[in-house]
Amino acid sequence: MKVHLIASSHFDVEGFLAFLRDQGTSWRQSPEAMDAEQIVEVAGRICYMSFGDRQSPRTNQEYIRHLIRMGHESVLEHVTWTFLITGVSRAFTHQLVRHRVGFAFSQLSQQYHDESGAEFIEPSQLGLSAEAREAWSQAMESAQRAYRVILNSLEENAVKSLEPKELSRSIHTAARSVMPNATETKIVVTANARALRHFLRTRGAIPGDEEMRRVAAELLRQLKLKAPSIFCDFRCNTLADGSPIVLQEGQG
Ligand SMILES: Cc1cc2nc3c(=O)[nH]c(=O)nc-3n(C[C@H](O)[C@H](O)[C@H](O)COP(=O)(O)OP(=O)(O)OC[C@H]3O[C@@H](n4cnc5c(N)ncnc54)[C@H](O)[C@@H]3O)c2cc1C
Repeated sequence: MKVHLIASSHFDVEGFLAFLRDQGTSWRQSPEAMDAEQIVEVAGRICYMSFGDRQSPRTNQEYIRHLIRMGHESVLEHVTWTFLITGVSRAFTHQLVRHRVGFAFSQLSQQYHDESGAEFIEPSQLGLSAEAREAWSQAMESAQRAYRVILNSLEENAVKSLEPKELSRSIHTAARSVMPNATETKIVVTANARALRHFLRTRGAIPGDEEMRRVAAELLRQLKLKAPSIFCDFRCNTLADGSPIVLQEGQG
């Protein structure tokens, strides 16, 4: 599994300082704050126009912690990250795309992409039993063989009344129906900080879902580099089997 961070929110400090000049006020910035953290802070401060002599001595980190503690989390929706996640199973992404709020997804299509050479993501549990692993490998090979047979056979025999693009879609649709949940996929995920926190909280600590925990832990690792204050109440621990688990303050 790989998680590539490919885009993130950029704070246009000059644009914001121009606004403050128009207002005849000023802002004491925390020099260590990252782009996302500054956006969250200024969005929060706009609510109360707490600039100039109305600004409390809180640092950016203290300010964000306070916002989160008070449940003023809508402010976190102003910052987003875009990740390209690869080497994960379609079983995983099927669960991921259930997150409706604050997420956007673009996933490899099995209607357009030829899956004849697809990889399969092996669940680590299979390492516990040679018999289970053998059964799994045979099932993957058999599914892939069936996929190729269906594809080739339908390409030769399909009624050619559909235009080529739709004909191809219909053939791939028939062939993909035999592909397993373990089929490797790629997905671009954009999510705002509030949605990511919800995801980490609900998905990061499910003991029986290692693939989900691994992705959650990698997301958290990267997010902590880009916005430590926004995710400071989450931490990653290791379970007895060496796999990661994401815990929020007060959990675990
Ligand atoms: C351990 C576990 C087991 C699960 N098992 C199953 C299962 O067996 N079958 C299954 O189908 N799914 C299952 N799910 C998926 C789960 O039901 C959610 O669909 C998924 O976790 C997305 O969560 P969410 O709805 O909170 O997220 P989002 O869709 O991102 O929503 C975020 C939050 O916004 C609010 N919200 C969103 N939409 C609405 C709405 N329409 N009305 C009111 N408030 C809303 C809620 O507060 C919600 O928590 C499981 C999830 C977990 C973590």
